[in-house]
Amino acid sequence: MKFNHYVIICLQVCVLVCANPVWAKASQQPDIQAVLDEAYLKFKSQNPGKNADYIPALAEVDSRFFGIALVTTDGKVYTKGDVSQEFSIQSISKVFTLSLAMEQKGPQNILDKIGVNATGLAFNSVTAIELNEDRSINPLVNAGAMAAVSLLDGKDQKAKWSSLSSWYNQFANRNLGVLDNVYQSESKNNGHNRAIAELLTSYNRFYGDVDLNLAVYTRQCSVGVTAKDLAVMASVFANNGTHPISKQRLMTSDNVKHVLAVMTTAGLYENSGEWAYQVGLPAKSGVGGGIIAVSPDRFSVAVFSPRLDEAGNSIRAQQAIGYIAEELNANIF
Ligand code: GLN
Repeated sequence: MKFNHYVIICLQVCVLVCANPVWAKASQQPDIQAVLDEAYLKFKSQNPGKNADYIPALAEVDSRFFGIALVTTDGKVYTKGDVSQEFSIQSISKVFTLSLAMEQKGPQNILDKIGVNATGLAFNSVTAIELNEDRSINPLVNAGAMAAVSLLDGKDQKAKWSSLSSWYNQFANRNLGVLDNVYQSESKNNGHNRAIAELLTSYNRFYGDVDLNLAVYTRQCSVGVTAKDLAVMASVFANNGTHPISKQRLMTSDNVKHVLAVMTTAGLYENSGEWAYQVGLPAKSGVGGGIIAVSPDRFSVAVFSPRLDEAGNSIRAQQAIGYIAEELNANIF
């Protein structure tokens, strides 16, 4: 057989293999931008739920905002909708503070001094502390998140804030600011969180001054981010601790695993079980309307849409991430 015949046979085999739908699908790269566009169109027109209002400044945010951003572990950024609009990070900050506390104190200290079991109760539940005999809480609900702040290094408020904000900035790969109206609004309405911090102090489960750590916690919740920032920040978790864009290593890959585990069991508070069941991605929500989700070794995704369900999770963000995870075949289970 001549060389030419070999070439023709090879080409024929290629055509046959590629024409087979199974092989064709496997060899195709998913069109991520098309998936984001579809998710946006699909959920744009219905906007159920309501803005958080226990922090008055959050009730004033325009509830029509809808932005979706996705960052792959090779550093590509995809966006759709209102991705340049700043909003307060709120509880999503808890995963980044937990990450710093873990890097500084080690994962065993997080387990011993805070705890990592899901409470199954609301994010600001006092009952959760009372019901648990060890007063073990979880770093992704208010009690554990404030305890995590109290564990951080820093001789005073200024020092603690300076290291925490520079930690956030490294994840965002830019300098983030604090939304002062949100900070003032939450500071004036902070009785419940103060009560939680005092209660933990009474059980020796708070590791510093209440005023100082409450102020730092409230400030971290008021950091202004866009959906794009959040996707960039969460991409560090998707990429095992190395920033896909700045290429800096921020965390050990072991610590990333711990953070993702807590996100899986408690990232959407009392609805985390249903989220894992239906979507299957480690995620974290905030009452500002943001949600981040992580597909390990592949991508991070963040959505901003201010209207929330009863548990305090953005409804459209859950819908959009659910759709994207399904289309990109990302369920980790
Ligand atoms: N700053 C808010 C609070 O402490 C954060 C709550 C949230 O986003 N679930 O109540």
